[in-house]
Amino acid sequence: MDCIFCKIAKGEIPSYRIYENEDVLVFLDIKPFTKGHCLVIPKQHFENIFDIDENILQKIIVVTKKVSGIIKNTLNADGIRLSQSNGKTAGQEVMHFHLHIIPRYKDDNIPINPTATLHLPPADSKDLEKLAKEIKSKI
Ligand code: AMP
Ligand code: ZN
Repeated sequence: MDCIFCKIAKGEIPSYRIYENEDVLVFLDIKPFTKGHCLVIPKQHFENIFDIDENILQKIIVVTKKVSGIIKNTLNADGIRLSQSNGKTAGQEVMHFHLHIIPRYKDDNIPINPTATLHLPPADSKDLEKLAKEIKSKI
């Protein structure tokens, strides 16, 4: 399979590695939003949140916590934004699961929440209740 993150995981193409264990790798994003922007990936290929193994996902979030704290302290970040997209429509460009760790700085000039202006108007409470029931019934 021609997957760039599989190749990075196997060391077949170069990357700037920050941390790794048996299942998880963290490396710097080549087109960073901010200084220290990095990606947390499973070494094994999973496409997205829908097919990733749950045990691996747990390991990813534990590594994300560890690295986020270290990046915040090391780079004096004022906050950390985590982001993760699933499917082309959601903005996923590389089809190998990855979680972005994006350090935020007071003067980084990125809107605090880039999606804040995209909210729909407040939803009708009846609609929310119906929607919650519909989804809940499938869990
Ligand atoms: P997404 O849009 O969520 O799929 O994010 C893909 C991310 O992968 C982007 O932020 C890219 O800059 C990053 N990326 C793509 N190729 C590489 C690479 N070879 N090394 C490091 N980061 C990469
Ligand atoms: Zn892959």
